[in-house]
Amino acid sequence: MLTVDDALNLVIGHAAPRSPELTPLRIAHGRILAESVVSDIDSPPHDKSVVDGYALIAADIAAPGVELTVLEEVTAGEVPKRPVVTGSATRIMTGAPIPAGANAVVMVEQTRLIGDRVAILQSPVKPGQNITPRAASLARGQTVLESGKLLRPIEIGLLAEVGRSSVAVIPPPRVSILATGNELVSPSAAPGPGQIRNSNGPMLTALARSAGAEATDMGFARDNESDLRRAIESGLSHDCLVVSGGVSAGVLDLVPKILHQLDVTQVFHKVNLKPGKPLWFGTRTPTRSVSEEPARTLVFGLPGNPVSSLVCFELFVRPAIQKLRGLAPIGLKKQTARLAKNHQQRGERPTYWPAAVCEGEVMPLAWKGSGDLRTLTDANCLAFFPAGEQLYSVGREIQILHFPDS
Ligand code: AMP
Ligand code: MG
Repeated sequence: MLTVDDALNLVIGHAAPRSPELTPLRIAHGRILAESVVSDIDSPPHDKSVVDGYALIAADIAAPGVELTVLEEVTAGEVPKRPVVTGSATRIMTGAPIPAGANAVVMVEQTRLIGDRVAILQSPVKPGQNITPRAASLARGQTVLESGKLLRPIEIGLLAEVGRSSVAVIPPPRVSILATGNELVSPSAAPGPGQIRNSNGPMLTALARSAGAEATDMGFARDNESDLRRAIESGLSHDCLVVSGGVSAGVLDLVPKILHQLDVTQVFHKVNLKPGKPLWFGTRTPTRSVSEEPARTLVFGLPGNPVSSLVCFELFVRPAIQKLRGLAPIGLKKQTARLAKNHQQRGERPTYWPAAVCEGEVMPLAWKGSGDLRTLTDANCLAFFPAGEQLYSVGREIQILHFPDS
């Protein structure tokens, strides 16, 4: 059976970002920049005052209490009309251009207005004080962002500052989520005998969104060939299709067969891990290119148990989405932590155990099997235990994979 690392390498090897698209700035947040951005302005555009106060000549203030004639008042957005000469000052507001001749600004709190004159209480005054020189933060023609940068709110602000109302970015991958199972009813329904609600669909959709994908919850299909074929075919028009359930060894586990019939090529089936062993992965490359259709669709068949689905998503689907977005496919953040209690590892498969980490101490949770999402609401990480029977003693350092906060 494939190891987790080998399986992940196969997934990553098949994932390729979409071509860049020119995108309005208002929806570019969270995407990866696909061009180098050059500033069309100096910032600040002029020597500017960083306080409300008086622009003056520093050398005029030989001692506290020197009085100067106030020439005019300049607010942000205005331009000074008169140069400052010895014995004079201009009332200036934060952000306004420094008048010619002035070389310092004294804060209004350190002055006193006396008619049309102002007494400067601060002395000495340093040349340059409270002035940000023109182009101090960036200059016209300067490259301010390199291709490959993740656009956080800060970068969105900078792009606006340098006049980019649209930018080339890698579009977010479109991911569809399809649950399967004759036992499923929708979350709004009361389950009848033998039925359960479809919790995987909403959970996986939220996970895909949290990973930065544009996710569509397709609801669920029944375990029969025609229903599965219809739903899967529709999901294949996306960059990635995540199917939950129907990939194990049950008589109604028809998903791999239908995927094969729909020209999805299997890359692997089954991975050596717990929970999540039945994981299926394949790709479909349309023989002729149809506009709007992706060049390739990645298809994941996740085992139906909610915790198995979650673990497989975090180990394989999240890194794939990261790569499709143009990011490094690092998956969850890896850390180490000390065990808060003894933990007995059983079985021959490497295990990802739901756990709660706090200040470097990790507590493996007493979950009641792969269907138990309730206990997992207390989890904020997966604790990793290599294959093999072994008692891990309290205090031992182990590897954990930290969930994102939302
Ligand atoms: P399967 O992988 O289809 O054999 O399903 C394994 C287990 O997961 C069964 O107990 C299913 O009832 C359960 N299961 C399958 N799909 C879902 C789903 N969408 N939501 C919650 N549980 C599910
Ligand atoms: Mg099933």
